[in-house]
Formats: sequence, structure tokens, C-alpha cells
Amino acid sequence: AYNFCAGPATLPEPVLQQAREEMLDWHGTGMSVMEMSHRGDEFVEIADTAEKDLRELAGVSDDYAVLFMQGGASSQFATIPLNLLGDKTSADYVNTGIWSKKAIAEASRYGHVNVAASSEADGFTSIPDQESWNTRADAAYLHYTPNETIGGLEFDFVPDSGSVPLVADMSSTMLSRPLEVSRFGLIYAGAQKNIGPSGLVVVIIRKDLLGRARKITPTMMNYQVFADNDSMFNTPATYSWYLAGLVFKWLKAQGGVTAMGEINRRKASKLYGFIDNNDFYANPISPRFRSWMNIPFTLADDALNNAFLEGANERGLLNLKGHRSVGGMRASIYNAMPEAGVDALIDYMTAFAKERG
Ligand code: PLP
Repeated sequence: AYNFCAGPATLPEPVLQQAREEMLDWHGTGMSVMEMSHRGDEFVEIADTAEKDLRELAGVSDDYAVLFMQGGASSQFATIPLNLLGDKTSADYVNTGIWSKKAIAEASRYGHVNVAASSEADGFTSIPDQESWNTRADAAYLHYTPNETIGGLEFDFVPDSGSVPLVADMSSTMLSRPLEVSRFGLIYAGAQKNIGPSGLVVVIIRKDLLGRARKITPTMMNYQVFADNDSMFNTPATYSWYLAGLVFKWLKAQGGVTAMGEINRRKASKLYGFIDNNDFYANPISPRFRSWMNIPFTLADDALNNAFLEGANERGLLNLKGHRSVGGMRASIYNAMPEAGVDALIDYMTAFAKERG
């Protein structure tokens, strides 16, 4: 079966196999990773290795702290303003869809949010040129969502934020291609697309942005506390951290993010190419800003949606139903989706359009 779920998404098959083999007895210790003390040598080695591998994969220098936090990406929507507003009262946000809106709504509880740019007017199908953005030099930070998982809208550029720290919600794009970390003040990603199980959230923060948390910031949301305690102020999500480590090793064996980026580019352009050349299917996003990871599409006749999904399920093409707020279909093709899965989907879409179109 191929799972096109947007999240929690599948882990690479070899990672699941390895986790199964090691589940009851990790490396002859007689313990499952789940049973280890997070302060014991074994787990500390697992945790350190995962961080080292992530740093290597994403090119994260020592100027940045890497934190393994909990509460998913959504908890970061509050954690970010509570840490980064500092003595400033407002931050800039770019609104490109549902996830940016959620980030804006949450940040608005802690300070003033200036929506510096929005693609709402065109139904979130493109991204306004940066020249038209109303960013401010005195903003505490500039937040954007490089890939809108639900809308399938993705930036093809990194915004220039000048001396204002750039903050990015990379939940659905992290590790899908090379990344210039030095452009960012803070990168965060809910793990459940390209990293590991849901709940875990990876935060990469430039060290000079630590130590700015407001007094009322809960300890468990304070980046400085996490940095000072190697993300072990409390009991971390040990098993998720371990699984993320296995994913990082797998990714390195695939050739890292450069190789993965090429594969992902190929997968996406194959599927968009097919959709564009077939009258029965459509994708509304302006071609320049189409997501490599989440590809929403509609059928020529909505009344056929259920038949399409049933036929897909019978062929082992799972979870193609679009988000409830958008309708239609959505194929999420994260790192763990092999190219053969995209080929199988295109074969099915071809047959369905021929038969029912
Ligand atoms: N941001 C983006 C871009 C997402 O895709 C998601 C979830 O899919 C989230 C935030 C929320 O993540 P979580 O469910 O881990 O809170």
C-alpha cells in the first residue's frame, strides 16, 4: 500500500522494519528504547547521535541550538511569541493559508500581529512579491509558512527579512531539500511529515535569540531552558526522538537532502505534469508556488469523488481525500513516499479518467 496521508504520515519502510527488530531489545541491552532512562548512557547516545545527524543533514552550525520539544508545531504558535517578542510589542506575519492563520491567531494573544502580506485575496493560490510586503524594521521577527500543507502552496524563495529574525514553520517541508539555515532566526517543524512520530517538534534556533522569554512564559515553553538542559528539562519523548534518529540515518543513506530534493522535485513534477495534461483533473495553485509535498487536485465532477477514493483504496492508494476545508483530493508525497507510489497513483488516475471521464 502507498499512504498519501498529509500527517501523521508514514515513516520509511526500512525505518519501521529496524524499529520492529530493535523494539524489545536495543543493541543487546535487554531493554526497549521506551524503557531506558533518558539520562542513561544508552539513550543519551541515541539523542546525541540524532542531533548530530540532523545538524549534518540540514547543515546546522554551532551558532544554532537544536531542541527536541513536544506539543506539536501548534504549541510553537504560542511558544514563539512568548520567547521572541522580548521587549517588543509586535511581530510581522505572512498569511498564506490555514496554518499561517493559526499561527497569527495564537500570536495575537500575546502581542500585536502585523500581517505584512497575504494571499487571501486570490484564494491562497499564489504568493505576493516581496516588494509589496509591508514589513517593519522594528518587528520582533517575521514569521512565514514555507509550505501550506492543506492548500498545497509553497514559497519558492526565502524571504529577505533584513536584520529582523526570520521564523519559519517548516512542518511539511523540513528535510525535503537543501536548506540555508543561516538565513533563519528560528525554524520549527512538527515531526510527523519528514522526521518522525507526531507530538515531537524540532526547533532550530540561533543562539542569540535564546534568553528573551517573557517572565510569564511557562518553563516548558522556554527555549533557554531546553537549550540549557539538552532538551531534557523533563522526560523527553524518548521513543519519538529515537525514531527521528532512525529517519535521519535513513535519509543520510539516501544521499541526504540534496539527493532527496532531486527525488522530490521529480515526484512532484511528474504528478503536476500529469494533472496539467489531463482535462479530468485540476490543481488551482499558480505553477511557480506549487508544493512539492502536498498536491491537492479536483476531479471534473465532484460527484465522482467517492468512487475515486474507493477505487484508490482497493488498489492500496490510501488517504487521498482532501482536507475537509478544501474538498477534492490531496496527495501528500513526503520523503517516505517512493517514486513508485507516484507512478502507481498516476496509473490509477489515468485509468479512472478514461473509465469515468
Ligand atoms: N504547521 C503546519 C505547516 C502543519 O502542516 C501542521 C500540521 O499538519 C501544523 C503546523 C500543526 O502541527 P501539529 O499537529 O504537530 O501541532
